[in-house]
Amino acid sequence: GSNPLSFPLLQKESPVGQMNENEFSRYAGCELFRQLPLSKKTRDGLKGSSYIKMTDIQRASLPHSLCGRDILGAAKTGSGKTLAFVIPILEKLHRLRWGPEDGVGSIIISPTRELASQLFDVLNSVGKFHGFSAGLLIGGRKGVDTEKERVNELNIVVCTPGRLLQHMDETPNFECSELQVLVLDEADRILDIGFKKALNSIVSQLPKQRQTLLFSATQTKSVQDLARLSLKDPEYLSVHEEA
Ligand code: ADP
Ligand code: MG
Repeated sequence: GSNPLSFPLLQKESPVGQMNENEFSRYAGCELFRQLPLSKKTRDGLKGSSYIKMTDIQRASLPHSLCGRDILGAAKTGSGKTLAFVIPILEKLHRLRWGPEDGVGSIIISPTRELASQLFDVLNSVGKFHGFSAGLLIGGRKGVDTEKERVNELNIVVCTPGRLLQHMDETPNFECSELQVLVLDEADRILDIGFKKALNSIVSQLPKQRQTLLFSATQTKSVQDLARLSLKDPEYLSVHEEA
């Protein structure tokens, strides 16, 4: 049932710019970002980075993800999967008027430090007109102790699975209880690297009432297992040239 009273979190939702459950069909044929019902801040961020026309996976997924659905999206490397999750995150937190005191609203999990840093750059350039604080939790030179003092100031966390789990286990006041959007990026690679257990453990510690976007270059059995575990009634989108 969809009795809103059973989901207290939804009461935070503001009706401003909210896409209706069935409204996606109105945007299904759109080719350009400016045809989507996006905030001015996101539109300006896209324009500033010269993103005008959507790629296939963006065109297929954004109408669904923008109205809050879970997505299992498969599209090859280089097809533009990053914006397919960065845009819905920015729009969701914007609509909720997410602020500094609201804590972690979104977590993006990426297989490697390099990929995490790359998508962090995209998030920062497209999201630069929004006031969210975003942080990269990937380990490396900066010690985990320095991160521990700052993780609770973050609205959007970009991380590798190991480092996120470390914070969940060790950082006393690390709070994800208000999480709105979880992204599993390059899920096939995350699983290839051997992070299956870490991912299961992470997903089990997150609030169930959330949106989850899972993107992958390939649809393997283990990606489907992960999807079963983490997605709710997802939209399956596969954008490949060859059948
Ligand atoms: P994937 O994650 O699917 O491998 P990326 O999100 O990294 O792909 O995007 C691949 C490249 O395509 C990047 O250089 C990115 O800037 C570019 N790109 C993504 N979306 C668009 C778009 N709508 N218009 C033009 N270039 C885009
Ligand atoms: Mg990618």
